[in-house]
Amino acid sequence: MNIFNFSAGPASLPKEVLLKAQAELIDWNGQGTSVMEVSHRGKPFIELAEKSEADLRRIMSIPDNYKVLFLQGGGRGQFFSVPLNLYKRGKRSQHLVSGQWSKGAVVEAQKYMACDVIGENFTVANLINVTRPEASQIDSSAAYFHYCTNETVDGIEINWLPETGDVPLVADMSSNILSKQLDVSKFGIIYAGAQKNIGPSGLALVIIRDDLLDFARDDTPSTFHYATQAKKDSMYNTPPTFSWYLASLVFDWIEEKGGLAQIEKINQEKAKRLYSFINNSDFYSNRIAPQYQSKMNVTFYLADEALNQAFLTQSNDAGLHALKGHRDVGGMRASIYNAMPLEGVDALIEFMSEFERVNG
Ligand code: PMP
Repeated sequence: MNIFNFSAGPASLPKEVLLKAQAELIDWNGQGTSVMEVSHRGKPFIELAEKSEADLRRIMSIPDNYKVLFLQGGGRGQFFSVPLNLYKRGKRSQHLVSGQWSKGAVVEAQKYMACDVIGENFTVANLINVTRPEASQIDSSAAYFHYCTNETVDGIEINWLPETGDVPLVADMSSNILSKQLDVSKFGIIYAGAQKNIGPSGLALVIIRDDLLDFARDDTPSTFHYATQAKKDSMYNTPPTFSWYLASLVFDWIEEKGGLAQIEKINQEKAKRLYSFINNSDFYSNRIAPQYQSKMNVTFYLADEALNQAFLTQSNDAGLHALKGHRDVGGMRASIYNAMPLEGVDALIEFMSEFERVNG
């Protein structure tokens, strides 16, 4: 039986990537050992690091005036790294709170600076919408403006760009990075925990515009000090080498698939199929306004919540794993990141349709 893993993260990785890693585990790059066991200062690993950065720059069209960092501490590690590193730029930060993760970023940033929340969700006709901050609400003296482009828990994706003038736009893209084409030049900092579209958990990718490297608080720990890590090519401390290696295999896989233009097309098709099935059903419902429905995390509810456990048990038995929604919002969630093939989505729709026929 085919297993399709809908976990929100750590999430499934492309089968081809796992097979390559398996084949190279004992003998990587002719070294006679695994990539985990060689020095990050040796030529083979440095070459891997340089190639992966060059690949990512090509895939995302990252302009030359941005640094790319491969750090530790996952997504939440950036919740404190961003305020620490931009601290001298301004006395406060501004935030759009569109769900659980952007709220978490405020809780952490508040330890270091004053935070204004200038946009939150609102509900119209039982559908969740996101407030779009007005240009007049932006405080030009703010250190940065933070938002989360895809709320993994809630299933909310924001497709517009906040207009923040000269205030650097900082985006948590943990759960939709590399899922579609993006104009990196609009952002001051893009960061992402790796465990959805990049690789194993623990690794964090940070893309930062050069002019923002000069504002760190003096007491910022060196491991999380962007300028220090940029100067040392992310090797001030020992980087998470195995995770970095897996990320490099994922970047190869993206290029083999035809890059982000192709990946985006497949992701659009997957989301379209699943949402149109849910939207056409009275048995299942999604509670997000259509323009904010995430293409990565599809949240849905059964009209009769008493059937939740049966749905989860039977879907799991059918090889459709990890569909339980986050405990804070309940219901179901199908995470359909890059590595989820179209067949996985079709199999889910077939199961949901049959479950509805039997129980509806
Ligand atoms: N931001 C977003 C959007 C996330 O989805 C997550 C994790 N699911 C995080 C931040 C936190 O990442 P980590 O658990 O790696 O700290």
